[in-house]
Amino acid sequence: MATIFTKIINREIPATIVYENDKVLAFKDINPAAPIHILVVPKKEIPTINDIKPEDKELIGEMYLAIGEIARELGIDKEGYRVITNCNEYGGQEVFHLHFHLLGGKRLGALLTD
Ligand code: 5GP
Repeated sequence: MATIFTKIINREIPATIVYENDKVLAFKDINPAAPIHILVVPKKEIPTINDIKPEDKELIGEMYLAIGEIARELGIDKEGYRVITNCNEYGGQEVFHLHFHLLGGKRLGALLTD
């Protein structure tokens, strides 16, 4: 089912886009959890990690390549950053279109807060 991220991909709702190629889009999170908080999404609608198929292997690689490029462009590649994907209820997933959170711009705290 189409989510808000599909609407962003299709330019039906606005977002601050920081990277785009034919398979991947990246934009600023509307409610940032760190000074830099970018969402990296595949243009293909894949709801969760559980829905990744063998034919998506290359696409997932493209997403990591995009993350590296964005981190270099934002100048956080050397100091470091964190990449997170939430899955389903216990993972805290709210938007059911696969995405990587790219978090940085400060020294990040413990991975789990509770
Ligand atoms: P999840 O909890 O699914 O891993 O993360 C969803 C993320 O999407 C949240 O960090 C939330 O702030 C972000 N988000 C939700 N709606 C919008 C939106 O309309 N625009 C943008 N840019 N981010 C959104």
